[in-house]
Amino acid sequence: MQSGTIPTVIIIGAGPGGLTLYHALIKNKDKKEFNVKIFEREAHPTDRWQGYHIGVNARGVRSLMNCLPSSVASKLPKAIPNPIPDVECHGISISDHKGKCLIHPPYKQVKDVFELTKVSDDFSAIISYRDRLRDVLLEDVPVQWNKKCVGFEETEDGVWAIFEDGSREFGDILVGADGVNSLVRKQKVPELKIFDYNVNIINADVAVPKSFMDRSIKVHGNTLIQKSLGTKGDWTFNLFRLIPIENNNDTEPHYRTTISFAYPKKLDIKLSDKIKVDDNDPESVIKYVKHLIQTLRPECELTDILIKLWDFVPKSSDPSDQENYPFKTYNPTQRRKLQDINPLSVKTWTSSRVTLLGDAAHAMNPVFGLGTNNAIKDADVLSQALLKYSPENYISCIKEYENEMRKRTSSDVLMARSFTKRLSRPIGFFGVIIRNSIMKVINTFINIYGAK
Ligand SMILES: Cc1cc2nc3c(=O)[nH]c(=O)nc-3n(C[C@H](O)[C@H](O)[C@H](O)COP(=O)(O)OP(=O)(O)OC[C@H]3O[C@@H](n4cnc5c(N)ncnc54)[C@H](O)[C@@H]3O)c2cc1C
Repeated sequence: MQSGTIPTVIIIGAGPGGLTLYHALIKNKDKKEFNVKIFEREAHPTDRWQGYHIGVNARGVRSLMNCLPSSVASKLPKAIPNPIPDVECHGISISDHKGKCLIHPPYKQVKDVFELTKVSDDFSAIISYRDRLRDVLLEDVPVQWNKKCVGFEETEDGVWAIFEDGSREFGDILVGADGVNSLVRKQKVPELKIFDYNVNIINADVAVPKSFMDRSIKVHGNTLIQKSLGTKGDWTFNLFRLIPIENNNDTEPHYRTTISFAYPKKLDIKLSDKIKVDDNDPESVIKYVKHLIQTLRPECELTDILIKLWDFVPKSSDPSDQENYPFKTYNPTQRRKLQDINPLSVKTWTSSRVTLLGDAAHAMNPVFGLGTNNAIKDADVLSQALLKYSPENYISCIKEYENEMRKRTSSDVLMARSFTKRLSRPIGFFGVIIRNSIMKVINTFINIYGAK
């Protein structure tokens, strides 16, 4: 045990990154003790909707196991249910606009989340339920709710977190884990700007009946993350589990599925005379997506399936409508900008008592499913660096963490950006032939040299 006063770490934001950091600092208490305080702007745990699926990969799970106490880690299968052998294939497949499979890597299939920690590649994953993952991570964490941080003030001896309600909290280290629109980041590194792809993305959660899922699997296969690439810069992705939704009153089983549709923003201008869309009215957004798919995609079974999936999205915007919302989505169905943040895009980054973690530092587009995994890895690396904390050397601990975090995540941000920018460009007849041929070559390579 250490001597002297116990330093205080203030965490802003109770998302997956902030909560994992809380657990890690408490777990390491016998090596280095901190008072840890965590503040969240939401009023209570179910204030905002948290429904999307998230692919948790081997890298993320290894860090989760390092950070969580065994009492919490043992509950992870509630949020990351065991794969169903021979029924579910956890991984990503990419097809073209007609449903022809282009990429299908040989992801290692594991029996549960604990076995995933032993997989040597970083990409093998299990699809988890985001809302349940948050519930598991909230266990034993005394989150202070309804505390929106609006800024901080550094002094020689520490740092004040300033809250919207007028209160202040003093600590030795302040960690901004407050997501893509982080106010902590805006004050700490104002030059670090959000990159806008000029692409819109619309996400929704739906309950898909078994008969329809069977039809979709005939075209797409049973890989649980499925992308399809259009030719006009549009692309789709669906994430699902083949575990029937509990308490579903229907006789036919239904499966929880996250669906996304992305397209170049300039199409909005072209279509603005023909079709009106209001982002506060989910019904108009759903109609718009269906119109876009119909206009941009060829007539084929895959196109029919993609359109029909949007019919399952609840049209009402009232989340208390439980019948139509068997589970709630993170955000209402509306157009959102596709964005990311490259933490190496600024020349100067001064390490201080205030640092950033997760999307606050390096939001990335969801195409490779790496955002949460990196936020969890950040918590692991930062908690390890803080084991060496002393009042004299805190800067070097933070610097060690930030150097690793910025390098690791910048390469993921840029990889996802370059892939997505290419997908988001319209291509013609020869472009399709070239794209499909390149992808097939890549597929052959990753199947020969990929995960064993
Ligand atoms: C459709 C979709 C699919 C995705 N799929 C995947 C996937 O398969 N795999 C993957 O790894 N990632 C995925 N992601 C990305 C993932 O959701 C994020 O990377 C992840 O949530 C980041 O965690 P975080 O803790 O850094 O931030 P967040 O989850 O954004 O949490 C930040 C928290 O801080 C709180 N907060 C914000 N501002 C303040 C403030 N001023 N004061 C106090 N509290 C504040 C917020 O309310 C929130 O609770 C996906 C994202 C989307 C949209």
